[in-house]
This record gives sequence, C-alpha cells and structure tokens, in this order.
Amino acid sequence: MSKGIYQLGGISLHSAPVVGESVFLWGGDRPDLPVVHDSPQKRKYLSTIDRLEFRTGHWSSHVTRGTSPPLGAIGYFCTTRNNDIFFFGGYCGHDICFHNDVNSFNSLTYEWSNIIPTSDAVMKRMGGGMVCMESMGTEYLFMIGGTGSTPTTYQSQYQYIQMVSSRIRQWIIPTISGQCCPPTSSFAIQKITNNKAVMFGGAVPSDDRRSDILVNTVYTCQLESDTTIHWESVKGPVVPASVQWPVRRRYHAITSIISDSPTLVMIGGEGKDELVNDSWLLNTSQYQWSK
Ligand SMILES: [Zn+2]
Repeated sequence: MSKGIYQLGGISLHSAPVVGESVFLWGGDRPDLPVVHDSPQKRKYLSTIDRLEFRTGHWSSHVTRGTSPPLGAIGYFCTTRNNDIFFFGGYCGHDICFHNDVNSFNSLTYEWSNIIPTSDAVMKRMGGGMVCMESMGTEYLFMIGGTGSTPTTYQSQYQYIQMVSSRIRQWIIPTISGQCCPPTSSFAIQKITNNKAVMFGGAVPSDDRRSDILVNTVYTCQLESDTTIHWESVKGPVVPASVQWPVRRRYHAITSIISDSPTLVMIGGEGKDELVNDSWLLNTSQYQWSK
C-alpha cells in the first residue's frame, strides 16, 4: 500500500462505487492500459485498485487477490452489495471486443471472485447499468441495456435485460410487465428501495438503427417476484412551459446523497450538441424535477 501524494492520471469510462466510508476506483480507459485481449501484463495492470478514504482524504493503491481480475476494463457495469462490488462486461480496449462475465470484488479482503464466466447466454457489452434488488429474501443482480457486439443469435429487446440470482448464480431472462425502456445505453440508474430503481436519459437507436437518439425519459423498474420486473415510464410535463424537465442527455451521473429521502441528484452529461453543465434534484414520490 502506498500513501501520501497521489497521482491518478486521466481516467474515463470507469465507476466510483462507495462501500462504507471509501470510494473504490478500478479499471477505466487509461493511457497505459495494455490494449490486448489478455496478457500477464494486462492482468497485472488490472490487479490494482485505488481507494479514497473519506475520513482521512487519502488515496491508497492496493494489489488485489483471488481469481483473475475482469478484463473488460472500459465502460463496465458496476454496483455494490454490503462489502462486495460487482462488475459486469466492459470493453476490452482493442477492436470490437466486449466481455460479459460477472465478477465480485470483496472490499475487505481485496479478493476477486468470478461469479459467472463468459458465455453466449447474454450479449457482450459496455455502457449499461446494473443494480442489486431483492425479492422474497433472494438478491438479484439486474443488468440493463448497454452497447456491444451483435449477438450470434437474435435476441429480443427484453433479452438485453437480465438478472443473476445470488443463490443459484445463473442467468435469468425475466418476464417484463408494464412500459419497459427500449434498448438504451449510457443512461444512469439508481436504486431507491430494496426492489425499485429509477433510470434516466441515455441513447436509443433511431428508427433506421443507423444512429443514436438521446432521450430524457424517467423510468422506474421494480422487481415484483423472483422472475417479473414491472416497468413504468414517467411522462414529461403535460404543459411543458410550466414545469421544469432536464434536456436529453447521456454519460450523466445520478446518485442519492440525502439518506432516508426519496430525492435523487442528477449531474451533467453530454447533450445533443455540447456537454450539459447543470444539476437537478428528482423527487421520487411525485417525480418532479427541480434545479
Ligand atoms: Zn478482447
């Protein structure tokens, strides 16, 4: 472990999950990431995780243990549960190569475990969202959307939404009810109860599928049983001039900063022609935005 003056350098397409009183920072697109599928150098490079402790304000660098670290270092999906951080998919760094394995990282022991190996069951991809939700005493990792390589077999829209049961560690294609989102990438999602999450924005394919269109829809998704996810789309204002609503965007961030409050904070992102420089509060009782 090294302490003191700390230089992280430029990183993009990473996540910064919080566990307890620390932020953990792994992978991402960095100038010195080896852009090969797999090599001893790449594994060594990805066997390091950075940690910021809120109490001291110190960054420290740690060597990880256990199985191989994930190799999809760029734009992976990420979420937490207790002391574990989960990683899914990611872009490899070379050619059109994406991953779809699921790995967990224990923030106490710094140990990686492979939960589900690479398979053809789900699309290999980056730029989607993952949340951990609970139904009837079992926890599920819930993977949504993203962008990646075309699957060898056709998959319906809803097959870009999958779950992994923490108990049986298998891919599950859930039953979808309500108004589900279209295939979407580069959105933001935040859990608001143990079985409900809020999703905002992102990019969806145009009708001719040749380009992406940015959106500013709010969706809620709720795990209703061990195999059913109910979606609702929250419409924008009926009288647009009278109600504030954020512009369409992707690559933004959303989080919950006030404990025990149903209010979320959404920040920045990339709009149609330029970066968006604003921040909003979303009240999830009424689904009202305020600046
Ligand atoms: Zn590769």
